[in-house]
Amino acid sequence: MSDIDGRAVAAALRAEVAADAARLREEGIVPTLAVVVPTDDEGTAWYVRSIRKAAEKEGIDCRVEHLKDPGKDEIIAKLQALSADPAVHGVICQTPLPEGVTLSQVGGYISPYKDVDGANSESLGRLAAGLRTFAPATAAAVLELLKREDLVLEGAKAVVVGRSTVVGKPAALLLLNESATVTVCHSRTKDLAAVCREADVLVAAVGRAGMINADFVKPGATVIDVGTNPTADGGLVGDVDYASVAPIAGRLTPVPRGVGPVTTALLLRHTVIAAELTKTHG
Ligand code: NAP
Repeated sequence: MSDIDGRAVAAALRAEVAADAARLREEGIVPTLAVVVPTDDEGTAWYVRSIRKAAEKEGIDCRVEHLKDPGKDEIIAKLQALSADPAVHGVICQTPLPEGVTLSQVGGYISPYKDVDGANSESLGRLAAGLRTFAPATAAAVLELLKREDLVLEGAKAVVVGRSTVVGKPAALLLLNESATVTVCHSRTKDLAAVCREADVLVAAVGRAGMINADFVKPGATVIDVGTNPTADGGLVGDVDYASVAPIAGRLTPVPRGVGPVTTALLLRHTVIAAELTKTHG
């Protein structure tokens, strides 16, 4: 088994982003990502700091908009204002959102041109239609990792465990757009292990530490672990039981250092693409 090195993929992507950002700056466009933070959650604050650091290192300005105890209308107003601001190219809205507010309610107020984390359901619709759009960065990271491994996805059997709008569904659509034969599993799937054992490519996006063990994996399969589950000692583990699956899988992403760093790098790549788009759509 070989580990898929998410940090190496992220470093390659970030080098490309830095070159694109430098070129745009020479043309007078300063690629800018706005991050709306409607929560005081410490984990979110840590993640936002890491996005800002990564962005600024690669030549992207990062504007963090922290909202204190906002209601739905305040979040929507902020997303609309940023969508209308010509100096801003990418807009993302962090979770958790306040009680009773969902990402699908507010995401629709991010311009699809600036929707670099695919939060607007129009972006998901375009993905389903096979049209050019921004997929959620985590789902895009799954595909990026697979593509950089030179895997033949056409005709491959892919199983995605998880059907959320931010990860499972868009990852399945991206794989389908690559002509993989895709099965999407969820909490009501019968005999999940048997379905997963059919997979050439298995994507775990569940949010249950170590749930995917050796029983779920066909020998030689490529396994992408999207899960990020905090441990009691402050660490992070995936949805895949690494020790059990590693001897069977052909390739496997570790957690951390797998999907996570690629997700951040793709947010940045999407932002420079969005900045590039302003040349044609204004
Ligand atoms: P989510 O919205 O909670 O969705 C979880 C999905 O897993 C649901 O579709 C659920 O099925 C399914 N599920 C739950 N228990 C199951 C079981 N026992 N058997 C089969 N399916 C089951 O989570 P998410 O937002 O998609 O995130 C998934 C994981 O990815 C989490 O660990 C999250 O932290 C991680 N994540 C990582 C990144 C990154 O950058 N690395 C980014 C985003 C998320 P139902 O639909 O039937 O309820």
